[in-house]
Amino acid sequence: MTKLEKKLKIDAIVKALKKVYPVALCSLEFEGQGWKLLVMGRLSAQCTDERVNIVCRDLFKRFPTCKALADAPLSEIEELIKSCGLYKMKAKNIKDSMIRLHYQYNDIVPDTMEELLQFEGVGRKIANLLLGDLYHKPAIVADTHCMRICGRFGMYPEGIKDPIKTERILSQLIEPEEQSDFCHRMVLFGREYCKAQSPKCDTCPIKTICKDQIKVKKLDESYINECLDLVWQVFSEFEVPVFPKEGVVEYKRIIDETRKKKNITFYGALDDGKVVGVLGMRENNHIGYFYVNSKYHKRGIGKRLFNIMKEDYRKKTFTVNAAPYGVPIYTRLGFVPTDKEQNVKGVIFTPMKYEE
Ligand code: SF4
Repeated sequence: MTKLEKKLKIDAIVKALKKVYPVALCSLEFEGQGWKLLVMGRLSAQCTDERVNIVCRDLFKRFPTCKALADAPLSEIEELIKSCGLYKMKAKNIKDSMIRLHYQYNDIVPDTMEELLQFEGVGRKIANLLLGDLYHKPAIVADTHCMRICGRFGMYPEGIKDPIKTERILSQLIEPEEQSDFCHRMVLFGREYCKAQSPKCDTCPIKTICKDQIKVKKLDESYINECLDLVWQVFSEFEVPVFPKEGVVEYKRIIDETRKKKNITFYGALDDGKVVGVLGMRENNHIGYFYVNSKYHKRGIGKRLFNIMKEDYRKKTFTVNAAPYGVPIYTRLGFVPTDKEQNVKGVIFTPMKYEE
């Protein structure tokens, strides 16, 4: 995608998510008090917001002001925040930063990145959270949800886990006044739909915008090697714990033959020009190959490939003769319900009943 395409796409997503989550509140319950958000932001590293909220109810009850927490015995803070993990370091950071906030800033959280980064245990993520929520300044909070989901949107290569890089890219694409709320919506959206392990693409309210970047189409011969490489890569990945050794040898033979004969029509899912899903059909409609890169297999790519095939052959339903080693693959792709996998055993099933 060009930068302009990315910009237009993220604009559309920002707009759509506003409708899905009209209220974009921070999930940390800091009650509008900056010092509390500073403490909670520090506690949230490698811990859920839910746990931080629970822990802070007791912490703020016992030490109800910035000064009280600054003067608190370290051991008491440690005891109260223990369940958040990394508690020794976090307790020390919290006490030191409350001392700094009280004596240097008179309990008022500063409003510049430079000053915030002076606070103990505060990195760019917490600083952006404070700038966005307390001062409504442009701020990208590149947490795990934001980094993962925007990679899936195609704003940068999927899988990047560099918060500084993602912050830099997203801050150039998302309108300044939308940035802070967008990141809060990412948290809500990541928990409800775009989960790390099993994104709910079927019911996702923005799936039509998200999937724009992945083009599904018939491929010409120049793609044959890339398609077969993907088939082999995915097959190898899937089969290791599942299939007998003969299956691997046989498959390798079929792939090598296909490379030579080129008697197969390929449909591909292309992400930025790279083949990430393949449907290969022989002339007699027999499906030779149907594989999707494991990073994409939960994103409805398989179903889109089948739909393209349906259109192309003007048929309402298809049956697929899944060889025994194909069944676990089709199950992972969502065409065979997990609880039915044991009964399918390589017989024919109809994919279209799972159509979007
Ligand atoms: S379609 Fe899937 S990958 Fe895209 S945003 Fe929705 S849940 Fe995430």
